[in-house]
Parts: sequence; structure tokens; C-alpha cells
Amino acid sequence: MKQIYDVIIIGSGPAGLSAGLYAGRAKMKALMIEKGQHGGQIMSTNSIENYPGSIAEESGESLTARMVEQCKTFGLEIVQDTVLKVQLEGAVKTVECENEVYETKTIIIATGTNTKNIGCVGEEEFVGRGISYCATCDAAFFSGLPVYVIGGGDSAIEEAIYLTKFAREVTVIHRREGFRANKASLDKARENPNIKWLLNRKVVEIKGDGLVESIVVEDVRDGSREEIHASQEDGTMGIFAFIGLIPQTELFKGLLDMDEQGYIISDDKMQTSVEGVFVAGDCRQKLLRQVVTAVSDGAIATVAAEKYIEETNN
Ligand code: NAP
Repeated sequence: MKQIYDVIIIGSGPAGLSAGLYAGRAKMKALMIEKGQHGGQIMSTNSIENYPGSIAEESGESLTARMVEQCKTFGLEIVQDTVLKVQLEGAVKTVECENEVYETKTIIIATGTNTKNIGCVGEEEFVGRGISYCATCDAAFFSGLPVYVIGGGDSAIEEAIYLTKFAREVTVIHRREGFRANKASLDKARENPNIKWLLNRKVVEIKGDGLVESIVVEDVRDGSREEIHASQEDGTMGIFAFIGLIPQTELFKGLLDMDEQGYIISDDKMQTSVEGVFVAGDCRQKLLRQVVTAVSDGAIATVAAEKYIEETNN
């Protein structure tokens, strides 16, 4: 007979891994499904300073590795597969993957977010040839070169600081004067002599021949444009875009209540609009998207799933 899991956790970022740890420790029949690498967005974070206890330099990669190890210690089953379709209604739910179809009493969605594209002319052509969305992955390619960081949120400012370890100079291009980034990081960036600021500007075009050679920026106040060229000596420049996130919730469109941006709506028990289906982490509608809130969501979701099973005698 096919086994029915107590809980299937979709996604293995901090939210999913925390849910998995709690499920493992509670001895639930739990399965975690991950389509790519573990860790989600934090894998492209070089330094996590605001997770309690990470005082020394902690990278997303090292934190993820320890989280995965901890889940395995408590017997969590983890498979690598891509979820294609879900059936969420009823006491037994189905999760259809590329390689297998699973049945489960509850589901925890922890699918996280993806980074947004700039949407300017030339972007597609230069991805991997000067344009990057991950400083941890690509900073070293731009050692000694000028680098432009687009965005004004936590990612842009924190990654701009990191990039100064490699680039000759980092210029933050942001479309207004106010920043979403937290004050501590912003102050640190402002004190860094290798960070320059190009405010009230947006990037409208990226040009080059093989590699990025220039970018065209538009002043949002009057529409005037300026083309910034790489020097002849450098020949190229780096562009790192951190302009926000898109929730990875396509699979659940029409099945669960979401806000207009596609974030899944839940209550304080992480319960979504369908009984027995919970959501945790960045793909949930919430105020603060950080590791500390993701792991909290994951823990709550698992405990709520456990209670749901008990209460429904499922
Ligand atoms: P974000 O907070 O959504 O910020 C996106 C930035 O990009 C904003 O400054 C926004 O400008 C700008 N932007 C958006 N669309 C743009 C466009 N088309 N062209 C130019 N600029 C554009 O995104 P994030 O920095 O990636 O952070 C995502 C979430 O992760 C946030 O909740 C953040 O707090 C969290 N995070 C936390 C940490 C940490 O705790 N250390 C680190 C990284 C990320 P406007 O401000 O004008 O809209």
C-alpha cells in the first residue's frame, strides 16, 4: 500500500528546513521535496549578521549546511524532485512530482521567492557576461573592476558592501533618495569610501560587444539620459541587480488565497485558505522576510500541522 505522509514540506530554504527539523524531532512521517539546491535565497548571501547567534561571519551556505545536517540527524526524508501539480482538498492531499506522486495529510509550502529581473534593454543578452543577481557567486569575476549595484533594499546595500572587497569601486544606482534597506547596513555603506551613489536614476539599457561595456541611466526626475562607459583600460564593468523578489507560488494559483503580488495569505498558525495546507517563509504574505522570521514560520507550521492531524483524527 502506498504510504501516506503526515507532512510534505515543499522547499528547503530556512523555512522548510526549520519545518523539517520540527517534523523530524516530532517523529512525524515527513518528506521534504526540493527541486534545486538547499538554502533558497540565503545561498546567495555572503554574510548573515542579523540571525541571533551568528556573531562571527556566517554565510548562507554554511548556515544551510548545518540546518540540513540537523534535519538529517532527526531522520527527515529529503528528495530532490520538481513538484508539477498539487491536489490540496480533502483529508489526503497529493503532490505530483516529475519522478513520483506522493500522498500526505498536510502540506507545508516553503517555496520562497526568486529575484526580479531589471527589465531593461540588453539585460537578457548580458546575463552571465557582466550582469549578475548574486554577489556571493560572481563577485570574484569583477576583481579590480568598477561595479554597479541596482536597488535600494537590504540585498542591494548589503551586497554592495560585500562587493567592495573585490571591485575597485561600487556605485549604487537607486531610483529614489529614500531606501528600504535597514539603517545599520545603510550607515555602514555610507561610511564606505569605495561606495558611490547615483540616486533618482534607473537603468534603461545595457550595451556591449560580448561583455558589458556601458550602461544607460535615466534621471527619473526629468527623463534625461546618460551613458556610463567602461574605461578603455577596464574594457568592461559589472552590474549586480537586487531589485526585489517574486514569490514562487505559481503552482498554487487558484487553489489558495493570495495577495495581488502572489504571496500566500495565512493566519498566525500559518494555516492557508485550505485546511491542512500551511505556508512558511518568504512566499507568505508578511511584514519581514528574513531568516529569523522564516525559521519561526517553519516551526509554527509544523506544530500547527501536527495539531491539525490530531484534531481531525486524520
Ligand atoms: P526589496 O526590499 O523589495 O527592495 C527592492 C529594491 O529595488 C527597492 O529599493 C526598490 O525601489 C528597487 N526596485 C524595485 N523594482 C525596481 C526596478 N524595476 N528598477 C529599479 N529599482 C527597483 O528587495 P530585497 O532587497 O531583495 O529584499 C527582499 C526581502 O528580503 C526584504 O524583505 C528584505 O528585508 C529581505 N532581506 C533581508 C536581509 C537581511 O535581513 N539582512 C538581506 C537581504 C534581504 P523602491 O524602494 O523605490 O521600491
